[in-house]
Amino acid sequence: AYINQLNIQRRQVLNEFLDLKGNIRVFCRIRPIRIGENFGHLRPVIASDSSNVLLKLDKNKSKSYSFDKIFHPGLSQDEVFSEVEPVIKSVLDGYNACIFAYGQTGTGKTYTMEGTSDSPGIVPRTIKALFKQAVESNHAFRISFSMLEIYLGNLKDLLVTQPTKATDRMLPCLSIHADPKGGIEIENLVTIQVSDFNQALRLYRLGCRFRSTASTNSNTTSSRSHCMIRISITCFDAPERRRETNKIWLVDLGGSERVLKTKAWGRRLDEGKAINLSLCALGDVINALQRKKQHVPYRNSKLTQVLKDSLGQDSKTLMLVHVSPKEEDLCETICTLNFATRVKSIHLGHEDSDE
Ligand code: ADP
Repeated sequence: AYINQLNIQRRQVLNEFLDLKGNIRVFCRIRPIRIGENFGHLRPVIASDSSNVLLKLDKNKSKSYSFDKIFHPGLSQDEVFSEVEPVIKSVLDGYNACIFAYGQTGTGKTYTMEGTSDSPGIVPRTIKALFKQAVESNHAFRISFSMLEIYLGNLKDLLVTQPTKATDRMLPCLSIHADPKGGIEIENLVTIQVSDFNQALRLYRLGCRFRSTASTNSNTTSSRSHCMIRISITCFDAPERRRETNKIWLVDLGGSERVLKTKAWGRRLDEGKAINLSLCALGDVINALQRKKQHVPYRNSKLTQVLKDSLGQDSKTLMLVHVSPKEEDLCETICTLNFATRVKSIHLGHEDSDE
């Protein structure tokens, strides 16, 4: 009876998720303050309840933002994942899905997605949950894993046998094609069939080692690329499923800070510009979807081309917005929350007024 009760509860959470009018949900995570850091004079970002965040602009002025969920700084990786899990379940139910981490460098995107060995993040937990749920479903599934990054506007396969660091810029870039069913195909992307959690985790760790990381003024180990993991699930014996193969993209986006703030130059400046452009393109795509425009400008960046069939109406999208708790980051925090608000309003089903 207890197991039945649990299953009913899980079903309810899932139904709540699937029944949403729009398909994009926005959760906001506030990074905890680290030892040796301080907030500044103001304590600018406060989770006022489970769906509202209060931003103090100065002593007398504040602004409230509301999202589907707010993760206050004390929340564990476990608690965060339990809110994300319904998206993963929806993939086994026949949907495509996309979870992406957005925010300024240093706000915890990689912590949320990759985590640490003590506190694993969403990627390892998703892989584990997918294998567990596939086994429990009693259907025959095949699970495959791919990993790439978008660096300076080019796609690089992170699972190709890696050359040394000195030559890795010479890796051939992958190209994207439209497939006949309206989706996309990434030519020559290495896709490895994985038979268990540990095998997939080893691939993931391997791919992480080859991300393009570099030091900027914003953060000593900031990532200047978008890191994208694709897990494909093929089910052989469930004709009621919507498609035979579904995929989930897990994306750790490059830092959203405006490029001038990083005081970068040369290659670092180019990296910042490329990231800013692709995040803008992502915002434009989401905006076009929100306004139900006939033309959605997927082609304006590699990021949106890759995500084309995981951002539209027929897929489940979750954006995890990350913000810093510090006063010195307030301007970037405002930009981030405004971007996230634009994304969130896709729920409201606004009709297009300019077409
Ligand atoms: P980003 O990927 O956005 O640049 P990181 O994930 O590298 O940021 O986070 C910056 C630092 O803050 C890292 O040392 C990370 O471990 C720490 N950190 C971020 N979020 C949390 C959190 N929720 N709990 C504990 N530490 C965190």
